[in-house]
Amino acid sequence: MEIEVLEKDDKNMRLLIRGADVPFMNALRRIVMAEVPSMAVDEVVILENSSILQDETIAHRIGLIPLKTDLDSYNLPEECPCKSEFGCNLCRVTFTLDAEAKEGTRTVYSGELVSENPNVTPVSDNIPIIKLAKGQKLRLEAYARLGKGKNHAKWQPVSMCAYKYHPKIEVSSKNCDACGKCVEICPRKVLAKADDKIKVRDLMACTLCQDCVEACPQNPKAIKIGWEENNFIFSLESTGALPPEKIVVEAVNTLDKQLNELENQIKVKKDEEN
Ligand code: SF4
Ligand code: SF4
Ligand SMILES: [Zn+2]
Repeated sequence: MEIEVLEKDDKNMRLLIRGADVPFMNALRRIVMAEVPSMAVDEVVILENSSILQDETIAHRIGLIPLKTDLDSYNLPEECPCKSEFGCNLCRVTFTLDAEAKEGTRTVYSGELVSENPNVTPVSDNIPIIKLAKGQKLRLEAYARLGKGKNHAKWQPVSMCAYKYHPKIEVSSKNCDACGKCVEICPRKVLAKADDKIKVRDLMACTLCQDCVEACPQNPKAIKIGWEENNFIFSLESTGALPPEKIVVEAVNTLDKQLNELENQIKVKKDEEN
């Protein structure tokens, strides 16, 4: 298998993976979404709430705020040696919020949540939590823990994770009269017309929608859209909880661990039978 990084910034990553198959790509995608842990608020103790929102609604909103995650310093609660329902410093981060609308109506933002660990904070300070009218107060403590997307979407480290086949575009120089209809209809601006010829401008942007083939007036069609078997484009967008490359590495390690466990279980079963 060969992997090429096509694009990467602090939140997004696009990889070209050659020599894989659909089951592998699917496993990788599902592990990214369901098994790679991230931090999210899991419990909220409301100390004072004179706003118009119920405690449960506020707790739900706070739970959905993506938090910068420090995977190396914290344990999953079920793996932490403390075995405590309440948690300890190795499996829980405490946030406090003390907000009051003294002057008039105001919005309380995620940036007002004060974390006990400066490395675990909301990924954005500008997520609105609640609006308070003059004189209203909100005081609470919130406890964040590591968790997995398979238990609740708030622990998913990605807002998007998808793969597609590597596209293959062929334009027949015999049939094509360079009418440009395929260029006009393409929603992703993949094609371009230059020197009375149709050229592929941005192959990776092609979604294989086939609109260009339908628009081609020639019979037989002068453009053919296909894909390369075993070559895939894998894209993910992090919520900001973890860097995208960390998410991929964690997913691959998890897949490796799961396959080893499966192998061991098969061995144990075989030994029992013999
Ligand atoms: S298949 Fe769709 S996205 Fe790809 S080149 Fe044709 S119109 Fe554009
Ligand atoms: S629509 Fe068909 S004939 Fe027209 S430029 Fe595109 S491929 Fe060529
Ligand atoms: Zn613990």
